[in-house]
Amino acid sequence: MDKQRLIFTDHIKEELKGVIESFSDADRLFILTDDHTQQLCWPLVEHIDALLKAEHISIPSGEDHKTLESVSHVWNELQRMGATRHSLMINLGGGLLTDLGGFAASTFKRGLRFVNVPTTLLAMVDASVGGKTGINFGGLKNEVGTFCTANCVVVAPIFLQTLDNENMLSGYAEMLKHSLLADPALWAETLNMQLPISASLLQRNVAVKQHIVAEDPTEQGLRKALNLGHTFGHAFEAMSFTTPHASLAHGYAVAYGLICELYLSAVKCGFPVDRMRQTVRFIHENYGHMSITCNDYPALLELMHHDKKNRGDSINATLLADIGDIRIDQTVSKQDVEDALDFYREGC
Ligand code: NAD
Repeated sequence: MDKQRLIFTDHIKEELKGVIESFSDADRLFILTDDHTQQLCWPLVEHIDALLKAEHISIPSGEDHKTLESVSHVWNELQRMGATRHSLMINLGGGLLTDLGGFAASTFKRGLRFVNVPTTLLAMVDASVGGKTGINFGGLKNEVGTFCTANCVVVAPIFLQTLDNENMLSGYAEMLKHSLLADPALWAETLNMQLPISASLLQRNVAVKQHIVAEDPTEQGLRKALNLGHTFGHAFEAMSFTTPHASLAHGYAVAYGLICELYLSAVKCGFPVDRMRQTVRFIHENYGHMSITCNDYPALLELMHHDKKNRGDSINATLLADIGDIRIDQTVSKQDVEDALDFYREGC
């Protein structure tokens, strides 16, 4: 699979203008926003000449709206406004919008071209890159979707100016994960957290995901590396949706998952303990913790067994022998899970 066309820029207007002009054969141009990005992000690009004739489609924000109803609204609007296979859609928003917009575009008339312009940190470093699109269905997250790569992704840190702290940190957890999969220099720079985040750091960070996805676009092998922190993270996230726990932002759950999975990496694969401790300290300082007790262990184990990334009875996780030294498909026993959760609780 070719690397996706990715542009990092501090000059969004000039760059997006050039991108739109490069699709000069597009007969119609559509721009998809949610109610927040329509209000906060559209004003940063609205004066681009090439966008003056764009037709607008908007969906409500929030994970509750990552639904077939929202996709149906997008399809209806595309049809009503005369979209053809030769049209172009620009998805201006966070990961929900790039997932949903990519799905709507990849299925309408068997696929029209689309450009992602991610506006959250999570979408910049993760969701808008790599070709996974989708919606929630039947109570399950990302249950229906396609593998379809955006024709271009334009990453502009200027959009982050209006993003709240929780969403910033949520995206930063995925950056931390990528840095652990990459190399010690990127990891050290990531722990050093310099704000505002530069286009250059974003570029080096996304290159980690891009490289992995190019090797394994449909998650048969190496792409599972991107699941680091997510075996435990998904379970924390799912449990947080049940009372009495307050619901966790995805990246916070991944950060707590990284604590458990770095512990297992140290115990089972020899990951250096000093590097594990530095990373854990960074997570505690920036993400706090979610309180759990031993009574929560059975529910967390059950959730890990039912994670859609696990096959059969065993729990699998991606672990590390060192920064950048990746071990996919590691079997994790019930005892391993309980030990890792004990370690997690010691730091709380
Ligand atoms: P999101 O798109 O819901 O954005 C979070 C909130 O921020 C929303 O209210 C949104 O309207 C608002 N927002 C967006 N840009 C803003 C800006 N610049 N300033 C102020 N507010 C802004 O969620 P997200 O955290 O970006 O992404 C989460 C979604 O991404 C989930 O649905 C998840 O399944 C998906 N995801 C997909 C992949 C993938 O590979 N396709 C990877 C990770 C996550």
